[in-house]
Amino acid sequence: MNRLLAGHLFWPLTERLRRRDTMRRLGQLRQTKNASAAELHRLRQSKLQRLVQLAAQHCPFYTARFLRSGFDPCDPRLDVEDLHRLPILTRDEISEQLEAMTWHGCPRGGPQPYSTGGSGGKALKFYFDRSRAAADQAARWRARGWWDVRPGDPEILLWGAPIELKANDRLRQWRDGLLNQRILNAFEMTEQTMGSYVQTIREQRPMCLYGYASSLALLARYALDNGIPAGGLGSARLRAVFVTGEVLLDTDRTVIEQAFGVPAAIEYGCRDGGLLAHACPAGTLHVPEENVIVELLDEGDRPVGPGGIGYVTVTHLEAFAMPIIRYRLGDLARAADQSRHCSCGSTLASIAEVRGRLTDHIVRREGKHLRRMHALSLIYVLREAEGLRQFRIVQPDLDRLDIEVVTDDRYGPQTEQDIRDGLRRRMGEQVDIRIHRLDRIEPTASGKHACVISHVQ
Ligand SMILES: [Zn+2]
Repeated sequence: MNRLLAGHLFWPLTERLRRRDTMRRLGQLRQTKNASAAELHRLRQSKLQRLVQLAAQHCPFYTARFLRSGFDPCDPRLDVEDLHRLPILTRDEISEQLEAMTWHGCPRGGPQPYSTGGSGGKALKFYFDRSRAAADQAARWRARGWWDVRPGDPEILLWGAPIELKANDRLRQWRDGLLNQRILNAFEMTEQTMGSYVQTIREQRPMCLYGYASSLALLARYALDNGIPAGGLGSARLRAVFVTGEVLLDTDRTVIEQAFGVPAAIEYGCRDGGLLAHACPAGTLHVPEENVIVELLDEGDRPVGPGGIGYVTVTHLEAFAMPIIRYRLGDLARAADQSRHCSCGSTLASIAEVRGRLTDHIVRREGKHLRRMHALSLIYVLREAEGLRQFRIVQPDLDRLDIEVVTDDRYGPQTEQDIRDGLRRRMGEQVDIRIHRLDRIEPTASGKHACVISHVQ
C-alpha cells in the first residue's frame, strides 16, 4: 500500500472508525514536546484537577479514598505535588473494587473491559476508555516521529499476544494491509519459522519493527548464526527496532543492533498503566508528561532521588472510565537527573532505565542449543485454562516445570490435560510437568507475586 495513502487516509479513517480522536491528540502532543517546564506544569495541573474531580464525582471508590485522605478534589490550588497525600493503588485493590472505581456512564467511549496476565500471576481485569487508548496511541506516534517513522510507514510486528492473533481474521489482515503492517507470530519461533521471518523482513524492507525485546533478539541471533551478515536484516530505509514488553538486556540490544544495523529503541508501557516512556534518538527515555504522571517510589512510598531505583507508580491523566491514580506497577526503574535538556531538543522529563522484572523468561531446549524464551507464551496457556484462580510457573531445571495452581470448582482432569498439552507444545515433549494444587500461592522473598520463576541460567 502506498505510504501516503496509508498514513493520511487509512490510518485516520481506522482511528475514526474506532471513535478515537488520536489525530487531534497527536497534533497537540507535537506542539507541547518542546514546551517550557512551566507550561507543562500548568497543563498537568489542570488535567489532574479534571481527573480527580471526575473520579470523585463518578467513582465511589475514589470519593471515599479522597475523603479519608483529607484530599479535596475541588481545591483550585491542587497540584501534582499533592498526589503524595493519596495512598498507593495496588493491583489487589483493582481486582477487589473494580466496579466501585469504574465510571460506567463515562461519555468518552464508556468502559471497555480488558484483562492482563502479565507478571502478577492472577489475571487482572480492568476497564479503559477511548480517551486513554487515543492518548497512548498519540504518544506512541509522536515518539516514533522522532525516529522519522509515521503512521502508514511499512512496519513488521513480532507479536504474539493471543488477543491480537485471535483477531487475525480477514478483516484484521485487510486492515493491517491498508496500514502497511504485517504481524509475525512471536510464539512460534522455531528454526523453520525464523527462516521464513528473516526472508519476509528482507523482502518487505520495513521502516521499523516492533516486538518483544527477547523475541527480536532471538531472531537477530538466529540470522547472524545462519549466515546473514551484520546489518543484513536492515535496509537503507529501516529507521529503528522498537522493543517493548520486557527489559532490554544489553546483550540483546547488541545483537539486535548488529543484525538490523539500526538502534533498538525502548517503548515502555503496559496495558494497565498506559504508555509511560519512549526512547528518543539520543537514547533518553522520555515520559509523555501530558498524559501520565510517573513517580518512582521507594519501599516507604517516598520519591527516590536522581539515580535511585524505585517502584514505577502511575497516574494516567487521560483515563476516565477507570481512573488510575497512583497505581503501582510491579516494575522498578532508575530515576534520571532533573535536567530537561536532551540533545534531541525535547524538554520532556525522562527516566534513566527500566529495570522491570527479569523473571519473565524460561529456557527451552532446541536441538543442541538452549533458547531463552518469553514466558508469556506459557502464561497464556494457563490464563486460558478453565478453573484457575491463580498460578505460578517454576522451572527448577531444564526439563521440568512445576505448575502451582489455586483452583475453583470448574477445574478438572480436562484442565490438567489442556495445561500439559499446551506447555509441551511450547517446551517440547521431554519436559516433566508437575501440577501442584495449593490453597494459596505465597509471594516470593522479594515480596512480588512473580508468576514465572526460572532457576535455569
Ligand atoms: Zn531526547
